[in-house]
This record gives sequence, C-alpha cells and structure tokens, in this order.
Amino acid sequence: MSDAVCAIKAQELRFRLVNTQNCPRIFPQQHERACGRALNNAGTRSGETKMSRETIGEDFLAPWERTDHVPIRQITVYGEPVLHQRAAEVTEFDDQLRQLVADMHATMDAAHGVGLAAPQIGVGLRIFTYIYADQDTAPERGVLINPVLTLSKVSQATPDPDEEAEGCLSVPGLNFPLKRAEYAKVEGVDEFGKPVSFEATGWFARIMQHEFDHLDGFLYVDKLVPRWDKRWLKAKKALGWGVAGTTWLPGTDEDPFGH
Ligand code: ZN
Repeated sequence: MSDAVCAIKAQELRFRLVNTQNCPRIFPQQHERACGRALNNAGTRSGETKMSRETIGEDFLAPWERTDHVPIRQITVYGEPVLHQRAAEVTEFDDQLRQLVADMHATMDAAHGVGLAAPQIGVGLRIFTYIYADQDTAPERGVLINPVLTLSKVSQATPDPDEEAEGCLSVPGLNFPLKRAEYAKVEGVDEFGKPVSFEATGWFARIMQHEFDHLDGFLYVDKLVPRWDKRWLKAKKALGWGVAGTTWLPGTDEDPFGH
C-alpha cells in the first residue's frame, strides 16, 4: 500500500472513529455519559439541544471525543516484557481509563482483531476488549476489567489445525491450534465500574480465554502441544522475536493476517 493511500485510510479511520465513538449504537454508555458530562460542562441541562463541537470547544469534550487525540496504538510483539508479566488490577475508574478503553476498541478495529488485551498496547492493566457477533447473551462489543473466568474442563485430545487454530495480534501472521474449554462464565466490570457477567461457549469462549491469558502474562503460543510448539519456536527464531522493542501499527503497517 502506498503512503498516500495509507494516509487517506488513516484519515478515514480517524473520521470514522470520532463518529462511531459518538454513535449510540456502538458506544451507548460512553455516548450517554460522556455527552451528558460535556453538555453539563458547557452549562446546559440534559434534554436541551445538543451543542455543536464548535460551540462547546474542545476543552469541554471528554478525552475520547477530542479530534486531536490519536486512538490507534502500537501493538506489542512477543518478547515485549509487558506481554509476559501479570497485569495489575484496575483501581481508578476515571476519564483516563475510559480513554484507554476507547483507544483499545479503536486499535482492535483497526487491526481487524476480535479481541485486544491492554498489555498488547503496552499497558500492564487487567483490561480486554472484544467484538464478536456470533453469541447469544453477551453484547456484541464489550470490555472486561478485572475479569474472572470460570471454565469447563479442557479436552486432552489432539488439537485440530483446521478447527482450533488461533491467531494473536502480538504474534502477527502466525496461527497454531490448541485446545480450549468449550464453556466460560465471564465476570468483571466495565469502564464505569458497572458489573458485567455472561456465559460464553465455543469460539466466543475461546476468545475470552485467549484475552484473559494475556492478563496473566501468557500468549496462546506459550500453551502449544509439543508438535506445534516446535514449529512456533522455529518461527520465533526465524523472525527474531522474543526480545523487547518490536511493535506494529494497525492501519499503517501491512496487515499481518491479510485483512
Ligand atoms: Zn492475543
């Protein structure tokens, strides 16, 4: 992709993000609460006509509504220390946290990921975002902060490379199979501290387990059976991973999974 096309794509993406982050369909809670606060700061009451960005001024906007904020973050690659340590519990539910979560959604979307954990953008906190439509009760898009997972038993059978291969934005371009629990009960809170709880099965349960593992400092490639582990170690060596300092930027660098 040429630099010019990249620049246009990035601009379009930023425009889309500014708009989707204001869209009640995508971020209903953020929209309602951020908008409510922005209007209150500007001296209006809820129910009054919404003021324009120009009228309010950037200073009154929530951080994730500011046009000068670049939400798409660099993604860390295997070897970056933050990926291999236990992430810390979130204790402050403030605007900074909500900006981080908005950036994680934006980065996940730009990378065409179905999940993203905070250590993958260099932040050692227990947060992951996901987007996955094919499930019953959970919202299609969400965030889990300080999550707890309760899992069914993991099968000891040989993993199927066609049906059970995972990929990870921090292991760009590679896929290896592994067994996961078929069922996960997922509990945590959102970026406002509000409880989140749902049950996940099948591939959605797999995403939950993959993202949760990131918060404990494990990537899926750390859990491969010997046959696939050998191939992974070979690939890791060939790619020069396993040391700090490698990142890639979604929407700018070539998409490692060819999306
Ligand atoms: Zn991952």
